[in-house]
Amino acid sequence: MTNKLIARQLRTAGELLELTGGNAFRARAFASASRTVDRMDEPAAQYDVQELTTVRGIGKGIAADIREIVETGTLSLNESLLQSLPPGLPEVLRVKGLGPKKVRAMWQELDVASLEDLEQAAASGALASLPGFGAKTVQNVLASIEQLKVYRGKSHYAKALPEAEAARDALRAAGHRAEITGAIRRQCIIIDRAEIVTDASPEAAAAALSAYRVTDGMGTLPNGQPLHLHTASPEAFGTVLWRTTGSEAHLGLWREAFGEPDDVAEESEIFEAAGVGFIPPPIREGTWEVQAARGGTLPTLVTLEDLRGTLHNHSTWSDGADTLHEMAEAARARGLTYYGIGDHSRSLHIAHGLSLEELAAQQKEAAELNEAYAARGEDFRILTGSECDILQDGTMDFPDSALAELDVVVASVHINLSMTEAEATERILRAVANPHVDILGHATGRLLLRREGYPINVDAVLDACAEHHTAIELNANPWRLDLDWQHLRAARERGIPVSINPDAHVTDGLDDTRWGVAAAQKAGLEAADVLNARSREALLEWTGATVS
Ligand SMILES: [Zn+2]
Ligand SMILES: [Zn+2]
Repeated sequence: MTNKLIARQLRTAGELLELTGGNAFRARAFASASRTVDRMDEPAAQYDVQELTTVRGIGKGIAADIREIVETGTLSLNESLLQSLPPGLPEVLRVKGLGPKKVRAMWQELDVASLEDLEQAAASGALASLPGFGAKTVQNVLASIEQLKVYRGKSHYAKALPEAEAARDALRAAGHRAEITGAIRRQCIIIDRAEIVTDASPEAAAAALSAYRVTDGMGTLPNGQPLHLHTASPEAFGTVLWRTTGSEAHLGLWREAFGEPDDVAEESEIFEAAGVGFIPPPIREGTWEVQAARGGTLPTLVTLEDLRGTLHNHSTWSDGADTLHEMAEAARARGLTYYGIGDHSRSLHIAHGLSLEELAAQQKEAAELNEAYAARGEDFRILTGSECDILQDGTMDFPDSALAELDVVVASVHINLSMTEAEATERILRAVANPHVDILGHATGRLLLRREGYPINVDAVLDACAEHHTAIELNANPWRLDLDWQHLRAARERGIPVSINPDAHVTDGLDDTRWGVAAAQKAGLEAADVLNARSREALLEWTGATVS
């Protein structure tokens, strides 16, 4: 578990204590412990209670809480505090500019217990009567509520998929045929419901899914999202699966081209009858895929197994939880042949960016580890590199002389995110033009369901990537999936390689790669379009580096 995740739980504890009117001293202790853990150089997860108490700002009680977070993944204190609050109140904490103190005041004085209450209080002028709420603040609160309501009820594909799979498996365990369909089958990145096709009767399905409280084909997933069941006879199962999978646009284009399909048991029969190849579900969005099917140019989508290495990863050198050696070994254990270092650069203090001296020391460690791999005859190497910050003026955080030493340089924006489209685009274009930059990292900086990215002129950025032979990252973290899949076809058309990077901060983070692959499939990418599907030699030839 990373320090960041531990820090987040501690911060939540402080906020909830303040919100519930608990001991103010204790609330402050949690807040300060959260900052301390966030700034620690060593992973707090490796410390026992005794060692934790030697860290300044961490007392015995919080040390035990940290151990609980590390061992169980959660803090029971937070859960019991949440129980004591109106269910809608924690969401109010997410409104930009509102701390627990303000939220408590609104709750106590204005009876604000949900986003809707807050919206009403803002509209009625009641909010403006509280100290510290000027017209501008009220306006910002309303804008933030609007955004939060758009995010509400939605989840990442990575979170929704396992829930849908569990429901599907419950139906299968009861002897029914069941397949996930709808947006989850299309691997959409944001999901607001799960849909399953089953041959079980409505009564039998309700019985098999008793935990989901199914009535009239509708149930509720543990995450609160709706579960829609589509009942199909065995003879028409394939057709119902087909009809519930494609987007409206896809179904429209298909019907125009091939008419309404007959009832079939297997979906593949629909494609056979039309005389075209099987259109993979992720690309059934109604853009180019029906045309490609007719022309016989359907892609063979990239798979996780196609990937030969991983680029852009963090270790304890910056803000990762595991050492470089542990991260590399985890990559090797996953059958990869290279691990690309992507620790932060010197200006990013909050993430322990490396100084030039540390960068040199890290290269030395990588060389030593590589010598050992070579001596053992392992087909595996660590590639030196950096996730180097793009400074506000578009220059790189490390000088060219340092970047020239590295195998793979990822350039990313992390600070000063409030920019106009022109400013953001200009900043990125300058970085992309740097001959030492190999990959543009998370191009828009968005955090799905949490923060919109800064606006960029995607066409201009992609044109520059093509001109300067810079790859574009598909950041595989389910919060990011940045650059968005909808732009990746444009990258492919320009011949820009796409690098599917987990941006891992712990060894298990390497497995996030699968979410990037899912998004790449959605874009219709093939192995040949993906930078890290290349062999180590081919990759290094492309970046212009060599490694012994
Ligand atoms: Zn980054
Ligand atoms: Zn990163």
